[in-house]
Amino acid sequence: MVTVVFAAETAGREVFLGFDTTLTVVFYVLSTVAIGIFVWGFYRRIRKYTRGSSINRLDWGRFVRALGDIGSNRTIAKRHRVVGIAHFFVLWGFIVLLIGTTVIAINDDIIGILLGKPEWEFWHGTFYIVYAFVLDVFGIGFIVGLIVLARIRRSDPLRLDYARVDGVEANRRGYSLDDKVFLGTLLFLGVSGFLLEGFRIAATDFPSFEVVSIGGWVIALLTSPLGESANDAARMATWWIHALAALTFIAYLPYSKGMHVVNDAADLAFMKPTSAAVLPDVKDPASPGYATLDDFTWKDLLDFDACTKCGRCHEVCPATASGSPLSPRDLILDLREYADARSGIKMWYGVGARPTHVVDDEIPGHVIATDTLWSCTTCMACMDACPVGIEHVPTIVQMRRRLVDTGDVEPGLQKAFQALARGGNSFGKSAKQRARWTKTLDFKVKDARKEPVDYLWFVGDHGSFDPRATEVSRTVAMLMRSGGIDFGILYDGERNAGNDVRRAGEEGLFEMLRDFNVEAFDDADYKRMFTTDPHSLNTLRGEYPTDDDVLHYTAILDQLVSDGAITLSALSGKATYHDPCYLGRYQDEYDAPRRLIEAAGLELVEMGRCRENSFCCGAGGGRIWMDDSGLDERPAENRIKEAVALGDDVNYFVVSCPKDMIMYSDAVKTTGNEGNIEVVDIAQLIYQAAEVVPVG
Ligand code: SF4
Ligand code: SF4
Repeated sequence: MVTVVFAAETAGREVFLGFDTTLTVVFYVLSTVAIGIFVWGFYRRIRKYTRGSSINRLDWGRFVRALGDIGSNRTIAKRHRVVGIAHFFVLWGFIVLLIGTTVIAINDDIIGILLGKPEWEFWHGTFYIVYAFVLDVFGIGFIVGLIVLARIRRSDPLRLDYARVDGVEANRRGYSLDDKVFLGTLLFLGVSGFLLEGFRIAATDFPSFEVVSIGGWVIALLTSPLGESANDAARMATWWIHALAALTFIAYLPYSKGMHVVNDAADLAFMKPTSAAVLPDVKDPASPGYATLDDFTWKDLLDFDACTKCGRCHEVCPATASGSPLSPRDLILDLREYADARSGIKMWYGVGARPTHVVDDEIPGHVIATDTLWSCTTCMACMDACPVGIEHVPTIVQMRRRLVDTGDVEPGLQKAFQALARGGNSFGKSAKQRARWTKTLDFKVKDARKEPVDYLWFVGDHGSFDPRATEVSRTVAMLMRSGGIDFGILYDGERNAGNDVRRAGEEGLFEMLRDFNVEAFDDADYKRMFTTDPHSLNTLRGEYPTDDDVLHYTAILDQLVSDGAITLSALSGKATYHDPCYLGRYQDEYDAPRRLIEAAGLELVEMGRCRENSFCCGAGGGRIWMDDSGLDERPAENRIKEAVALGDDVNYFVVSCPKDMIMYSDAVKTTGNEGNIEVVDIAQLIYQAAEVVPVG
């Protein structure tokens, strides 16, 4: 029977209980060796980052937000709540246990030994009691969190299956092994720490104040029948096992997944959330993009090491899902392996690197295959899903810039570039035909270069030339006029905005298109701008040297409906809405289209992948111009199947992007869903519901 009489003033313990001088010295020697190996590995990593090219990522506001992200585990909990909560307990357990060990080192080693001031030691009494309680609580959370994470790893094979998508032979068993060793070692350290505490409490006759060491106290109650001397022998053995495991863990960190503890915090602090929306300028026009490792920035090199292989990007990537040879995770891991090989860094388990990784200097087309780079739709789903702030899209675009510079361009894309260079549009049409869609309207659309307008409408290529999208343009024109919006267009003065040209890596052509448009804007007289094309919206807002206020047409329609300038009578039925990547993830606009659908009287039924988790149609980043016949399943087909699975009563698949209208109209046919669901632009829906008043 153990009787507890609490005596705070006597609280405390001896770290090296029962150690002679030799054993103590052995421990300090081993500690020095472990710390030395850690410092060397850490130094090698830092040296690797310093070989990266420069980029300014000093943003104090971002640093503060990153602290919040890291502390709350917000980015990890996003879309995977249980993982986030479990990781929260592991992270804070780890931090508190690390602080606990540091406190002992300060008290014993610095104050007690180095300064020789035992009277200054503070690790006793009330401080010790609070310390012991806090460490035990966080230690229990740490173990529970690790068990939950281990359980999830066993049950989530898709995200955590390291099989490559491009069929290239690579030995990735080391990746799985490293995951298991990392998680297993942490768990071992947590459990052995509690065992050690329990044996110590039982061997020292249950000091009353140790009741606050909840975990150890319970273990001590279980082991006390063994007797004090057996508990003391077990304590001594566990002390060494625990200490050796901890020292090995310290030495192993920079050569393993353990490095993510440091890298991920740094990556989140230095990330730029807008780096895909506003792409970096070309540094050297004579040699654009990334060719060799020296062209990658230090942030890119940090990105590669920050990857925890969690597979969230792999899971959401439309290119991966459609069977193309791109997985954003593989891309990052291949670049990491290459950078490590070129920097002489080895992980403890070796890597699955292909031999070419150490001999080829040219990265695009060699380390990362050309087809892989052209497979990306720049949808940004990977960046949105990545919990550690890795910036895949700018890295891919930089490598595409190099491919374009060396003429290694996908044939369909090449044709589009030529058409764009000739006539300023990807349809190969004369600029004179750009406003032909307006001819069938029963009113004349103003030319903003000839008369002042409130709104300049940037129509975009598809809304100007593709018959399915020009139909929508006409509907938008009628709605705007009916709502009293004074607008005009640039007629033959408009060129492709260049958003996708830029993302396909043709920076020179982008600049040409942009400069042409900017000159046309200068010639026009307008107060604000709107566009029907989310891709144009993105580049006009962030990549043009203008300070125009640019809106998406759904924002204006939403305003007209809420002001009563357009009145709606209720339609009946159900609709689902597809968030375009460049309106949602890129421009953070989700609500106006939804309000409009509901204002039209339809019941909105969300697909599982909606808002920032929306699934790309497959057209972005220049993919609309490339051959997609080799895909297992086009992303748009995958998406239409998702919508149809919502049920027979979902009548409308609502879009708000001209490219979506084209991609999804095709996908409805190729998946055999004609008659099951109708693709409509939000403007067409509003037009159906609106009492459009003929004007003038
Ligand atoms: S941007 Fe989209 S398509 Fe490209 S790698 Fe990321 S998720 Fe895949
Ligand atoms: S890049 Fe990000 S999302 Fe993808 S596997 Fe690595 S850590 Fe996970």
